[in-house]
Amino acid sequence: MENKKELRGWLDKFGLDHPLVIAGPCSAETEEQVLKIAHQLKDSDATVLRAGIWKPRTRPGNFEGVGALGLKWLKKAKEETGMLTTTEVANPTHVDLALENDVDILWIGARTTVSPFIVQEIAEALKGTDKTVLVKNPVNPDLSLWLGAVERLYTADIKNLGVIHRGFSAYEKTKYRNNPEWQIAIELQNKFPDLPLILDPSHIAGRRDIIFDLCQTALDLNYDGLMVETHHTPDDAWSDAAQQITPATLVQIMKDLKIRKEVSESEEFQNKLNNLRAKIDVADNQLIELLAKRMKVSDEIGKVKKAQNVSVLQTKRWNEILGKMVLEGEQHGLSEEFILRLFKAVHQESINHQERVMNK
Ligand code: PEP
Ligand code: MN
Repeated sequence: MENKKELRGWLDKFGLDHPLVIAGPCSAETEEQVLKIAHQLKDSDATVLRAGIWKPRTRPGNFEGVGALGLKWLKKAKEETGMLTTTEVANPTHVDLALENDVDILWIGARTTVSPFIVQEIAEALKGTDKTVLVKNPVNPDLSLWLGAVERLYTADIKNLGVIHRGFSAYEKTKYRNNPEWQIAIELQNKFPDLPLILDPSHIAGRRDIIFDLCQTALDLNYDGLMVETHHTPDDAWSDAAQQITPATLVQIMKDLKIRKEVSESEEFQNKLNNLRAKIDVADNQLIELLAKRMKVSDEIGKVKKAQNVSVLQTKRWNEILGKMVLEGEQHGLSEEFILRLFKAVHQESINHQERVMNK
């Protein structure tokens, strides 16, 4: 697949002066619920109504969706509000049912993108469609797998495409339900700048209070849209209750977000600057996380040395590290002076950590 302007044709057609907003409940629960939420979203920035009909649950026993019946509710919501509709499809039967019921945009979920077999089956079921298909990132942080799914669709002559960034699962619990790993989406954006990129802050956050910040970061990184789980009574939602927000909150978020358009020259400059600064912020956060990880290993070394009664400072080992890092740095255009200063600071912090452990 090459980067082509045609990839974003479906999005440009909307002629929006703000990012595309897809909103609606995690799951369609009842007809009343779907219609209520659709009507509450009707006069917001949301162009597309989302609702899961078939819900992939990691563990059995959770709400697995209402099934095909819900497609009628989406259709009715479209008739009553004029919003477009979208739902997740996870196999060729879902595809046929969604197409029969006039769903406008289909998305492929994170648990499906991981399987090239299923993605291929879906691509074949959709062959040549002019519907828009959005591909969520796979649950594991693998850019090729994500791109591979998009390529399978493109090869099946599906040209209205986009991707949804919903974060990546990790064994270690962090403040996110799914770690954003922004650098992966940035890399994808660098490779395919015209492939619409949409943030799903809800599944990254897993909680309401950080949705706004995630959206702002995405807009600073020039994302094309947002998919936000929205429910009229979030706490009562049958799935993903903690992360859903009300349509009113979504309206407020859209008001508060700084949306940067490319208009005047100075705004274009500001836009570029903000975009680059957002990338720097992502890299800085990664640096901190890596440094913290390194210091945890130092603590472990401290424990091992303590058990053997070995001294903290091992000069020979340290000089070896420094020499290697100066060479590595040179290959990446980093000066010897910088590497020496940086690693001396890292080393000092490492010694402090080990000493703390050994003198406990
Ligand atoms: C969803 O959008 O409700 C969903 C199940 O998403 P994901 O595939 O990202 O987990
Ligand atoms: Mn959900």
